[in-house]
Parts: sequence; structure tokens; C-alpha cells
Amino acid sequence: MEYIQIFSPATVANISCGFDILGLCLDTVGDKMIIRKVPEKGVRITRIEGASLPFDVHKNVAGVAALALLKAIETDFGFEIEIIKKIKPGSGVGSSAASATGAVYGINELLGKPFSKSELVQFAMEGEKLASGSMHADNLAPAIFGGFTLVRGYDPLDIISINTPKELFVSVIHPEIEIKTEEARAILKKTVSLKKAILQWGNVGGLISGLFLEDYELISRSLHDEIVEPHRSILIPGFNDLKETAIQNGALGAGISGSGPSVFALSKGEKTAQKVADSMSIVYKELDIAHKIYVSKINTEGIKKINQ
Ligand code: ADP
Repeated sequence: MEYIQIFSPATVANISCGFDILGLCLDTVGDKMIIRKVPEKGVRITRIEGASLPFDVHKNVAGVAALALLKAIETDFGFEIEIIKKIKPGSGVGSSAASATGAVYGINELLGKPFSKSELVQFAMEGEKLASGSMHADNLAPAIFGGFTLVRGYDPLDIISINTPKELFVSVIHPEIEIKTEEARAILKKTVSLKKAILQWGNVGGLISGLFLEDYELISRSLHDEIVEPHRSILIPGFNDLKETAIQNGALGAGISGSGPSVFALSKGEKTAQKVADSMSIVYKELDIAHKIYVSKINTEGIKKINQ
């Protein structure tokens, strides 16, 4: 195999209470990438479509992630990367993670899969560090493993795949403004009170139990964020209205997707998820805010090869 074409999915990180540890993989939104084996050693980015991003491999997360992988294995050939962006950078649905995971997944496939999924996440984290200044894996893990994932720990990296209830659907609204992950991190407080921490870990435990038990009521009760959302939501226009209308229209819960500005809602059933999406869209139409809207089932497969 000399080249591979990949669907690299968008992801929702945090999922309300799980700041930096929980994520889920979307099915209908994602980038396309082509990775090609070439005789010249090293990594080159030869095509970028759909976004204005650097071709310099040290400034593009795909290049940084690919180089991290190639540091761990000797090859006497190199790779060219083509990126066809459908996920806008800075949208909060894992645009940088899609590029970083696409690069390492594609190269690993072309090399005959020498690395495990966890190792691929580890290499891709180098890319995320470039995009956001920190080595988080909450978008990378669901992109590579699919479904819902928990990053239980970073030292060593410990990723747990969580059950995906069959009828769970996601609605995502993306206002066309950019919030850099780095800026959204800077707004956060460095300490939390014990009272808030107790509420938060109760909800994390509840959400994970709800996902495994396929208990939609429990999922709904647990979709709260006492720590990050109160600070970050001020960066998102109309956030409280979006959340309120989503819940009024049947969503189990709603919150900030990753570091925003996208907002997600989880619903039981596609019809409800569509109704929720429509209601959130009305909020932005009334506020005259340009936006994109997605309804997706949860992609349990994650990143994948597509027909060449
Ligand atoms: P998102 O949550 O949508 O991934 P981030 O803020 O984490 O947004 O990442 C976007 C930042 O990463 C932007 O500053 C962008 O220029 C930079 N970046 C570098 N390479 C890429 C890439 N291949 N895809 C997306 N963003 C990239």
C-alpha cells in the first residue's frame, strides 16, 4: 500500500462535567486526508484545502504529530500529507485533533500498524500541544478509539472506551467566530472549591454510569459543569438561550463543545436531536449570528480508511 485516504472525524471534548478527560466522536462531520509513502525521507505537507493553515511541518499539527511518530521508528522513506479541511480551525469540535490523528493513523497503516491506538494518541498529543499549549487527549482519544472515551490519566496515558447508548444523538451549533483553545484556557481559574469538586466528580461518575447502563435519565441528570462552563460561556454569544431552548425541546443536556464556541446537546433519538438543532438555530437567527448546525449519531468506529 503506497497511499491511504482517511475520514478523520470531528469530536466533542469535555461533555459538560468531564473537562480534559471525556470526549465523543461525531459521525457526519470530519476532514479528509491522504497520506502517501514517498522515497524522500521526512514529512511534507503538499496540499491544504478548506482552511488557511501552515504548510510548515513544524507549525501544522499534522506535521508535528507525524514527526513525533517517525522519531519512534526507523524508516528509509518518507510521507506526504494532504489535508482537506471540513472542520474549521478553532471551532471547538477538534479541528486540530482531526489533523493530528489523521497523520499518525495514516502513517501507522502504511507502516503495517506497528503502533497501538494509545501510542497513536501519544504521538498526536505533540500536535495538540502546538495548537493549544498543553498536551491534552480528550479530542484525540475519541477520534482514534471512536464512541465515548475517558482519559483516566496522563502519566501513564490510560484511555478507557465507554459504552455508547444506541439512541444517543448529538446536535452541534457552531457560531462562525473563532475562540482559540489557548485563550479559552487562560480564562479559567487555577483552583476549585471542594464543594464544586464534589458536585463535579459526582456528575462524572453519574455520566459514565449512565452511558454504561444506557440510562438516559441518569445521563441527563449528570450533564452539568460546575467548574468550567460558568467562566467560558461568557465567550459564547447567546449561550444561556441556546442551552435553555435545547433542554426545552427535549435535549438530555447541553454545554460547550471543547473550548467553544460550538455548543453541543445530547438527545435520545434522531428526531429530538433534529428538533433541538432547529431550536438552537432559531436562537442564532434571531440574534443574527452566522452559524452551522450538525446532527450526528455517535461514531463508534472512529477514524477510518475510505475508498481510494
Ligand atoms: P479546535 O478545538 O477546533 O481544534 P484549536 O484551537 O484546538 O481548535 O486548534 C486550532 C489552532 O491550531 C489554530 O490556531 C490553527 O491555526 C492551529 N493549527 C495548526 N495546524 C492545524 C491543522 N492541521 N488543523 C487545524 N488547526 C491547526
